[in-house]
Amino acid sequence: MVRAIVGANWGDEGKGKITDMLAKDSDIIIRFQGGSNAGHTIINNYGKFALHLLPSGVFYHHTTSIIGNGVALNIPYLLQEIKELESKKVPTPKILVSDRAQILMPYHILQDTYEEARLAGKSFGSTKSGIAPFYSDKYAKIGFQVSELFDEVYLKEKVEQVCEIKNVLFEHLYHKEALKPEEVFQTLLEYRDMVKPYVCDVSFYLQQAIKEGKRILLEGQLGSLKDPDHGIYPMVTSSSTLAAYGAIGAGIPPYEIKNITTVVKAYSSAVGAGAFVSEIFGQEAEELRKRGGDGGEYGATTGRPRRMGWFDAVATKYGCRIQGTTEVALTVLDVLGYLDEIPMCVGYEIDGKVVTEFPTTRLLEKAKPILKKYPGWKSDIRGIRDYQALPKECRDYIDAIEKAIEVPITLVSNGPGREDIIIRK
Ligand code: GDP
Repeated sequence: MVRAIVGANWGDEGKGKITDMLAKDSDIIIRFQGGSNAGHTIINNYGKFALHLLPSGVFYHHTTSIIGNGVALNIPYLLQEIKELESKKVPTPKILVSDRAQILMPYHILQDTYEEARLAGKSFGSTKSGIAPFYSDKYAKIGFQVSELFDEVYLKEKVEQVCEIKNVLFEHLYHKEALKPEEVFQTLLEYRDMVKPYVCDVSFYLQQAIKEGKRILLEGQLGSLKDPDHGIYPMVTSSSTLAAYGAIGAGIPPYEIKNITTVVKAYSSAVGAGAFVSEIFGQEAEELRKRGGDGGEYGATTGRPRRMGWFDAVATKYGCRIQGTTEVALTVLDVLGYLDEIPMCVGYEIDGKVVTEFPTTRLLEKAKPILKKYPGWKSDIRGIRDYQALPKECRDYIDAIEKAIEVPITLVSNGPGREDIIIRK
């Protein structure tokens, strides 16, 4: 059985925790897109971890953790994360890396940094992890695939060709030092030795696993609205954040994905630029930011304060639809316990018209939120395990969200810990 876990919004929905939970009942966990540009926060018996590249299954003995072909593979970063686990006494996990994954190079990070500087005030708010240049190179067919590391003659020649192209940008657009092919080649040889113990024909491995009835979990990063096709283009990430891409980024048949669990947050937060209709500001935002998540809403990778907003039913209904959601995990509900009334964005006003279907970016930028207020429950709901024991106002708020997004909410998360979860139906 293949299950996907993905986000409905801008990312940071608390997928790390839910993935960690689902990973317990999985045999194989796969990252299928993105790179080290976003992080999952996981709290367990070994401590608190911000995983960026490793799948969330690495804490369990019985699981195999896979970096799929769709990922932007930063090899030194991967090894650093493995080392961090060792230093915190996590038993050595079983890790496999697809031989078809492509390698994120140091020059991708440089390019990302130079480009952000060039765009100055008009930047996209990149995390400067090299993700956009990496995927551009992949599709321009000048990326390096893991399998290519094992053919030195071919590799050397390709490095020369790639540097020729990259150096036009580096020297003439950014006015920076040119890449030296010999140095790039040496870096690739070092990477080869680092990644070698993990390399695997992942899609074949998964085909066998599916035949054997193994439980497979596809772990998404970011959320629907950051998808390059269906998100708020161009303020998006550079790889698909949708469950459907799990089939491609892992190498499995699309029809094997039977369950799509979408993580939805009880309020909104976003990082980077882009339209954010239900955004709040000033004291109201600061209060929610401070109380949000576990220790405040600040980026796991960058430490940047996140932009805050109320739950956006228009964006979330769309985010769930485009994922093909079969069930929803609603997170960080406990955070809202301080509010007398909880506003929810139930529609957008665009050019004087009320809209409830999520529009394209140009229209989205004109949208004004239509807010509806729900009574708050004014209490701490952490520690509650039984759905019926939640305050009535809290259950009403959950029902309202479920009605608005048109998919069943089966899990409710009311705290950052593994045990802070309520199974609803
Ligand atoms: P991800 O990238 O989607 O995993 O999101 P984050 O790493 O940003 O996780 C959000 C933060 O919220 C983390 O610090 C989690 O520990 C925390 N968190 C997750 N679920 C809950 C919850 O239900 N309540 C509270 N208070 N915090 C949560």
